[in-house]
Amino acid sequence: MSNVYTFGGALPQDNARSDDPRTRDKTIVGGKGANLAEMAGIGLPVPPGFSITTEVCTAFNASGGQFDDAPRAEVAAGIAHIETVTGKAFGDPADPLLVSVRSGARVSMPGMMDTVLNLGLNDATVEGLAAASGDARFAWDSYRRFVQMYADVVLGLDHYRFEDALEIAKEDNGFFTDTEMQAEHWQALVAEYKGIVAEELGRDFPQDVHEQLWGAIAAVFESWDSERAKVYRRLNAIPHDWGTAVNVQAMVFGNMGDTSATGVAFTRDPATGEKAWYGEWLVNAQGEDVVAGIRTPQYLTRAARERAGAKPLSMEEAMPEAFAELGQVFDLLERHYRDMQDIEFTVERGKLWMLQTRSGKRTAKAALKMAVDMAGEGLIDRTEAIRRVDPMALDQLLHPTLDPSAVRDVLTRGLPASPGAASGAVVFDADAAERRAALGEAVILVRVETSPEDIHGMHAAKGILTARGGMTSHAAVVARGMGRPCVSGASSLSIDMTRRVAKIAGREVAEGEVITLDGSTGEVMAGAVATIEPELVGDFGVLMAWADEVRRMRVRANADTPADCKIARQFGAEGVGLCRTEHMFFDANRIRSVREMILADDEKGRRTALAKLLPEQRTDFIGIFREMAGLPVTIRLLDPPLHEFLPQGDAEFAELAEVTGLGVDHLKRRAAELHEFNPMLGHRGCRLGITYPEIYEMQARAIFEAACEVAETGDAPVPEVMIPLVGTKRELELMRALVNRVATEVFSEKGRTLEYLVGTMIELPRAALMAGEIAEEATFFSFGTNDLTQTTLGVSRDDAGRFLGTYVEQGIYARDPFVSLDIDGVGQLVALAAERGRATRPEIKLGICGEHGGDPASIAFCEAQKLDYVSASPYRVPIARLAAAQASLS
Ligand code: PEP
Ligand code: MG
Repeated sequence: MSNVYTFGGALPQDNARSDDPRTRDKTIVGGKGANLAEMAGIGLPVPPGFSITTEVCTAFNASGGQFDDAPRAEVAAGIAHIETVTGKAFGDPADPLLVSVRSGARVSMPGMMDTVLNLGLNDATVEGLAAASGDARFAWDSYRRFVQMYADVVLGLDHYRFEDALEIAKEDNGFFTDTEMQAEHWQALVAEYKGIVAEELGRDFPQDVHEQLWGAIAAVFESWDSERAKVYRRLNAIPHDWGTAVNVQAMVFGNMGDTSATGVAFTRDPATGEKAWYGEWLVNAQGEDVVAGIRTPQYLTRAARERAGAKPLSMEEAMPEAFAELGQVFDLLERHYRDMQDIEFTVERGKLWMLQTRSGKRTAKAALKMAVDMAGEGLIDRTEAIRRVDPMALDQLLHPTLDPSAVRDVLTRGLPASPGAASGAVVFDADAAERRAALGEAVILVRVETSPEDIHGMHAAKGILTARGGMTSHAAVVARGMGRPCVSGASSLSIDMTRRVAKIAGREVAEGEVITLDGSTGEVMAGAVATIEPELVGDFGVLMAWADEVRRMRVRANADTPADCKIARQFGAEGVGLCRTEHMFFDANRIRSVREMILADDEKGRRTALAKLLPEQRTDFIGIFREMAGLPVTIRLLDPPLHEFLPQGDAEFAELAEVTGLGVDHLKRRAAELHEFNPMLGHRGCRLGITYPEIYEMQARAIFEAACEVAETGDAPVPEVMIPLVGTKRELELMRALVNRVATEVFSEKGRTLEYLVGTMIELPRAALMAGEIAEEATFFSFGTNDLTQTTLGVSRDDAGRFLGTYVEQGIYARDPFVSLDIDGVGQLVALAAERGRATRPEIKLGICGEHGGDPASIAFCEAQKLDYVSASPYRVPIARLAAAQASLS
């Protein structure tokens, strides 16, 4: 087992041509090293070099910065390899070999670790480089770049001192740009740079090229543990124990005059996916000049240049031969990797060199187009096309998104609770939102937190912003369900309701002022930012159809209204997995009857109020059944604590007193009686049905009457009546008997019998543990993983936003467990309940309707448990379809 693997150069001992899989294993030689070896192996022009393995990095950092003897000897052999291929010697004062030393982890961590270029220059070799290249200016420019970079990266000196010295040198000479500096100016600057090093460190800049090399290797390894690299890894869930490889490679120069150049390119357009080369290049420049933006890069192809109306010649026009060779390389790389490549290249005096290739990052739109196109071209098969697209990236396509070219004035950042972008006038209460929206104004509802009473305002608003609440807070769940962009938990937001002004991170925004939300990033911006509308046709439809062919699990939607059902069906939902009936109760016209029902003194009073609600609920269900004709619809009976529906403020109490004929004091006393200390664990779920059976009776009646009516004229629906928050078999037994009794009554009244199911949610640990018994009463289980997560973790879903972020940052949970199922913990309960439920009733239907039903990692877990379906909010249905297909394939 080696510590060092060479590449480049058609020599038999070159590892890149060997069969050793470690030479191309990203975990060993890093992503960059593996791809360099791969390119060299297929005969592309790669400057010779070697990779020092990630294992050496791990050992080096674990030993507190010591190298073993073995890597030392192998690095020497690696240098010898480069010397043989290039015919130059490291440290040779006549014609020196110069190398680059770069990091290369398994996955790219752009800009997070260190790089040193032009290594091998010293006071002697710079003269050799000048002579060999015939270009003293180039040699001294390279030396000053090297001293500055090495001083910064390896010696830890502040780069500002060097930049200042350069500025002063230009000023003293009356120059504006670096290009005006001649050999002697660079030479003088090198002397000054070396003076800075000696002054700061009390020793001279290292002249020994081997000392330079080992210093650079150690610095790159150490940069794995730099603060910025650690933060990047935490944010991107990259394990800390991977380590980075180091790539040492012969330098090639794009800055050797007008026949030299450097550039970056994509084999297809990363923004649109179009099959057209896309890139930038600069004549007479080094790689960092393109990235640093000192000079404006030029277009690669003539077509792109002409489209942009730009003057400077494209590479296609200026260097036709090198460009033609580059085109062949693009084709070869795409065929080899069967994916779009992101490439770095250099032309040194007319000769093309490849410095890097990797799979290119792309927008969701481009990912879709490329996957479908490449399957059409025979580059990949359909299965691979399905695997290529990140389901979560589809989010970008399903909602209006901000125009990436628009300017953003970011006020603050909260949680990206519901994707999409929206601009509108700030309003601070739901009524104002409704009123202003009715007049055709786009509004953003800004609240400390939302409650069920805000539903009408949320519906009327284009977007929702809250100061409190996590990813499954009321605002987040409802907003996602409605497809409204939402930023929640923006903790720097406070609202002064007396002045009707919001304070956002120190800036004041008055009611009526326009802001923009990006629910995909959590950004809150001042003013209106232009948006682009989603496109769901073309490649999107094609890929979805392929996904549907391979997926095993069904995909349903969490939808509460006929309008939601319609959208869900357009997005491909195969039924409703959760209809939260309480959302219907909040309608402005009904809330009075609901309040009357809750505050009634006795069953008779409640029944009178419920009789008013019955026709309304029936109408809702008729609408939903019609939209979902022929598909299963799971309707959950009333779940939330009753006091959520209570009147707020004197005006509402007075209004209710008038309707009911009861005194305000009496109503207030009754409301106080309903107060709960911990409503999430209080009088909610089936506990409502157990204590007030008439509520569930009314709902069951509305369901069956609606089903009978729809069956008269169309496809008979198969209602699945779902009882929430069950913990014991007896609860379900009682509620099922109630539902069955009502069904029998309605069917006999209507003279028709319809098929229906009665089942339960599994959302309490006890329900999961007792699933074997509970299944005796249930024909289906739907995992309510929002509550199951809350009750298993003992973490309130409404309060989690305050601390879960810190938990995720510190790696206590890898991801927010309300977003991505805690498979290790909550997952055990799901698996156990599925197993026990099936043991009692093998044909039991199993699904999930918590928010996790729209999360790809959780969907993969559901597939592993062989659930029958997942249910997600309407806008997540396509994501779930693709994720379920990918899960079927793995
Ligand atoms: C759940 O608890 O997972 C669920 C779907 O129900 P709700 O979010 O309405 O409590
Ligand atoms: Mg629940």
